[in-house]
Amino acid sequence: MTSPNTSKVLILLGPPGAGKGTQSRLLEQKFGLVQLSTGDLLRRSIESGSETGKAVESIMAEGRLVGDDIVISILRDRMRDSDCAGGVILDGFPRTLSQARALDQLLAETGQQISAVVSLAVDDKKMVDRISGRFTCAGCGEGYHDTFKPLEAAERCDNCGGSEFMRRADDKAETVAARLIEYREQTSPLIDYYSHMGVLANVDAMGPIEAINRSIEATISSRS
Ligand code: AMP
Repeated sequence: MTSPNTSKVLILLGPPGAGKGTQSRLLEQKFGLVQLSTGDLLRRSIESGSETGKAVESIMAEGRLVGDDIVISILRDRMRDSDCAGGVILDGFPRTLSQARALDQLLAETGQQISAVVSLAVDDKKMVDRISGRFTCAGCGEGYHDTFKPLEAAERCDNCGGSEFMRRADDKAETVAARLIEYREQTSPLIDYYSHMGVLANVDAMGPIEAINRSIEATISSRS
C-alpha cells in the first residue's frame, strides 16, 4: 500500500490587489513551499514567444480569464516538476469552478489533499490603491508599491540592487475593472465550493502586509 502524500497544498483566493503574490512569497520562505502563480507562468509564456503565449496575450491585456484548458495544462505540467513535490502555494489558481474540479482530480492522482484555502478579503478602493502603485524589480521579481512598500534606496532594489523595474500592463484602471468583474463572476463562487469542502479560511486583507501574514500563518498552523 502506498502512503498518502502529506505535502501541503495551499490556495490563496482573492480579487486582484488582495495581496496573493506578496503573501505567497512570504509563506514560501516560512513553510518551505513553492509559489505557483499561473499569472507568472502565463506572462513567461508570452515573453518566450511560445504558441501559448501568442494565444493568451490579448486576453490577458484585456483583463479577461484565459481558457481553462490552457491554464489547467500549464498548472498540471508545473506541478509535476520535482521542486513542487514538497508542497505548493497556488497563487491565482483555481479561478473557475472547472479549474477547481480539475485540481481535485489532479490531487487525487498524486495522493495530495488541499491543506487550506485562504480567502483574502479586501474592499474595492483598497484594491485599486494597491494595484495602481505596484511595481516589481526586473532582476529578481521583488514586489514594491509607491506608497505601501517603497524602495529603501532611490532607484535600487532592496533585495538584489538592480535598477530596472516593471509595471504590469494589465494594472491600468480600465483593465483592473475587467479583472474585478471576472473575479466576481467566475472566481468568487469558489468561496462556497471550498467552504462546503471544509477547507476555507477567511482572512481580512485590509491591514499592513505583516499583520495579514501573521493571520494567514496562524490559520495554516492551526490546520496542520
Ligand atoms: P495574476 O498575475 O494572477 O493577476 O493573473 C494575471 C492574468 O493572467 C489574469 O488577469 C488572467 O488573464 C490570467 N490568469 C492567471 N491565472 C489564471 C487562471 N487561473 N485562469 C484564467 N486566467 C488566468
